[in-house]
Amino acid sequence: MTKRLAGLDDVLPGIRERETSDPEAYPARTIADLYAIGLPQAPFPAALGGSECSLRRSVDAIETLAGVSPAAALLISMPLGLAGFVVAGASAAPAAHRKACGEQAEQVAADYRAGRIYAACNSEKGAGGSVAATQTVARRAADGFRITGEKILASFGRHASHFFSTAKVSQDLPGAGTVEAFFIRTVAPGVEILTDWDGFGMRPTESQTVRYRDAPAESLLGFPNYLEIVQPIPYAYCLFAAISLGCARGLLHALGVPAPQSPALRLRLSEALMRYEAMRAYLLETADGWRPAAGPSYAARVLRAKTYVTQESTRLCAELFALSGGRHYRRTSPVARLLAASFAGTALRPPLPLALDALVESFALEDSASH
Ligand SMILES: Cc1cc2nc3c(=O)[nH]c(=O)nc-3n(C[C@H](O)[C@H](O)[C@H](O)COP(=O)(O)OP(=O)(O)OC[C@H]3O[C@@H](n4cnc5c(N)ncnc54)[C@H](O)[C@@H]3O)c2cc1C
Repeated sequence: MTKRLAGLDDVLPGIRERETSDPEAYPARTIADLYAIGLPQAPFPAALGGSECSLRRSVDAIETLAGVSPAAALLISMPLGLAGFVVAGASAAPAAHRKACGEQAEQVAADYRAGRIYAACNSEKGAGGSVAATQTVARRAADGFRITGEKILASFGRHASHFFSTAKVSQDLPGAGTVEAFFIRTVAPGVEILTDWDGFGMRPTESQTVRYRDAPAESLLGFPNYLEIVQPIPYAYCLFAAISLGCARGLLHALGVPAPQSPALRLRLSEALMRYEAMRAYLLETADGWRPAAGPSYAARVLRAKTYVTQESTRLCAELFALSGGRHYRRTSPVARLLAASFAGTALRPPLPLALDALVESFALEDSASH
């Protein structure tokens, strides 16, 4: 069993109520509630306002939340994932960078305690979801780094206080990887947040286009070559998979509570429950294996779990939707919204075609046996 994050059960009824009364607006009150119970800051140590929450418990929280509000789950997974990244950086930093990483963790945690939102602003048109294909560039200036490029699908949009964004750096940063991540204040000069979001599902997420024109970065995430050394991205993949899984959980509840009279429906719902429980067990066991710099075998396991869970969850949602009947066949019905929202999991990094290409390229049964 996974111990539920404290406070989550208390805020879920209010979130459910707002999801029903105002399903398409940015959920400001819900996000404030989730900050108040400490969800995004949970990975931090207690001294920084967190609870040293494991990835397993974070996945459980995101999944539970997604069953009620998929958009809130997607939104909050961004600062939650970043907290996991920062904590991982502080623990896996080479000795020369450990002190600075500890200070960065203190700064980010203090911002979270003040309710500030760090949002992911990484995707780019035509990059196919690949970090390596990032076109945004960072140039070294007298006072730090300046960022130029266009990002898409930056959830939270203008509601964020900071974006964390990938950019290619020139090699005048000693030890730099090809791509580094930077913190950029959303109100910094040279940051333009568009209002072009028109999602199929996940409409409250405000996933906008962002343009950087020589925008000053507040700091580098971690240290040079952080993404290669710490390998934090599997952490986010597990959270993303939990969103689609939560949509399946929400649909199961919508159709199965109270239990239907029809024996045929009961059979189909029993089958759906078995598939849901199997996916959930796979994802939670995968999340249990998380540690910084875990290596290629764990990264491959996470990729498989993320791909399987998001793909199967959307299939399950589609099958359950087909069983739900005509009264749910409205664009705005909660059941239809869960169906549309579930597909975001297959689009979130890595998008399904990219994940399948990577699985084919790295297929090896021997490696998988250890996980
Ligand atoms: C609701 C929602 C919220 C999101 N929130 C965020 C966020 O907060 N922050 C953020 O950074 N991103 C966010 N994203 C973006 C997401 O994480 C993906 O990275 C992004 O959608 C991938 O880009 P694309 O599908 O637009 O790729 P495109 O470049 O348009 O590619 C389209 C498809 O073709 C495939 N493809 C393209 N080129 C190749 C190739 N050479 N080889 C194989 N396959 C290829 C891709 O894999 C992709 O599936 C969000 C997406 C959604 C749907």
